Amino acid sequence: MRVIFDKSVPGRIGVRPSRQTGCPPPHIEPKLLREQPAALPELSEMDVVRHFTGLSRRNFGLDLGFYPLGSCTMKYNPKLNERVAALPGFAELHPLLPQLPTGERLVQGALAVLHDMDRLLSEICGMAAFTLQPLAGAHGELTGVMMIAAYHKERGNRKTTLLIPDSAHGTNPASAAIAGYEVRAIPSDADGRMDVAALKDALDASVAGLMMTNPNTLGLFEPRVREIADLVHSVDGLMYYDGANLNPLLGRCRPGDMGFDLVHINLHKTFSTPHGGGGPGAGPVGVSAKLVDFLPVSLVKERPDGSFFLDYDCPKSIGYIAPFYGNFGIVLRAYAYLLSLGKEGLLRVSEHATLNANYLKERLKPFYDLPKPGVCKHECVFSAKRQVVHGVHALDLAKALIDRGFHPPTVYFPITIPEAIMIEPTETESKETLDAFIEAMIEIAKLAETNPEEIVSCPKTTVVGRLDETRAARQPDLASLD
Ligand SMILES: *Cc1c(COP(=O)(O)O)cnc(C)c1O
Repeated sequence: MRVIFDKSVPGRIGVRPSRQTGCPPPHIEPKLLREQPAALPELSEMDVVRHFTGLSRRNFGLDLGFYPLGSCTMKYNPKLNERVAALPGFAELHPLLPQLPTGERLVQGALAVLHDMDRLLSEICGMAAFTLQPLAGAHGELTGVMMIAAYHKERGNRKTTLLIPDSAHGTNPASAAIAGYEVRAIPSDADGRMDVAALKDALDASVAGLMMTNPNTLGLFEPRVREIADLVHSVDGLMYYDGANLNPLLGRCRPGDMGFDLVHINLHKTFSTPHGGGGPGAGPVGVSAKLVDFLPVSLVKERPDGSFFLDYDCPKSIGYIAPFYGNFGIVLRAYAYLLSLGKEGLLRVSEHATLNANYLKERLKPFYDLPKPGVCKHECVFSAKRQVVHGVHALDLAKALIDRGFHPPTVYFPITIPEAIMIEPTETESKETLDAFIEAMIEIAKLAETNPEEIVSCPKTTVVGRLDETRAARQPDLASLD
């Protein structure tokens, strides 16, 4: 857009009359007019395109290669999802429209999607209702923990503590602490599962609930989950399910049937929406019947005549947790994914995610230490213990993978495994891709023995080599990248 500075014509600043509406621009007081042109850079479109395309080529994403980031479920983001989210009937809705007297009529389609998504996720998780508003997994956790607090407050319970296994994702204790709870860690047993005897010892009247992931972050299913739920419920504690990653469960079993009262799921993991750089995500939270009244506002409800409306009249609600309706565009993408897979497709997701992880595990276990052998679910955790003997650590292996065209797996998590390498292939990769990754991992393991120097000097193919990662995150030196 060309900016015009014509002080002789009052009101003629900024923009020409709109061609679309023919309306003159608003009158602007002459004394408010700019004296000097704005110091804006002038760039050709081509320069801008080359700049951003150049930057994007330095990035690594799923459209470029394999991204086996354990716990993060970096699965392919189908382009169909993007097309659905870009449909003008959705993309051009103004978020304030439903609050206008005539607006509700114009957003019926969007509300119908939100309502249906609530139903679908409730069915998949065995919950009574969902809020789609939380903007990330951790945000969903905080929402859930706030509902736990509201539940106990209403019942007059004095609860101060949340129990969290030591293998939990770091956001669990963080969310509990932000909501004002003390965190009591439950150790894992030698098998990598929750130590139920230690749970019994930790249970007392102060316990508000237990936050748990199943399968846990080691990719191991907790077979005693019903017993664990009964124990927690016996002190009127609530069971919180961290379902950031629901891949191994989809269509097979449901957190609600395992005894959980609340669930958050990450649409940007299980439901194939993009992760983005710290966003945009969505962490919908589902609750069992006893917690429905505490869900955040607003809720999409259906009238007897089949029309939908946003309900703000929820006196026990924990209130607002996100502007408008959360990340609506992300919910749309996940909805498109769910509908395109259908019931059978969801089952295949869990089958293939599990099969792929076990295939990788079996082929790599001759070369890497596998602390918890046996069948895993959607991810497997190795340790770089054998390579450490040669002076090569998990971080070095990760850097060597970058030079071979793969995004590294998650390393040093879960913290219960020293030198952890956590691999999650997801269901969306072909056997050829998995084989290429396996070959690279085997080659790296052999080099670590014969020529460790080659590995610890990686990466060599990137714009920058090894960084002080903590300092790079806090004081990024973006200028010297050019
Ligand atoms: C990713 C993840 C989270 C946090 O989700 P964000 O969207 O990154 O906030 C929580 N728990 C588990 C198990 C996860 O994998």
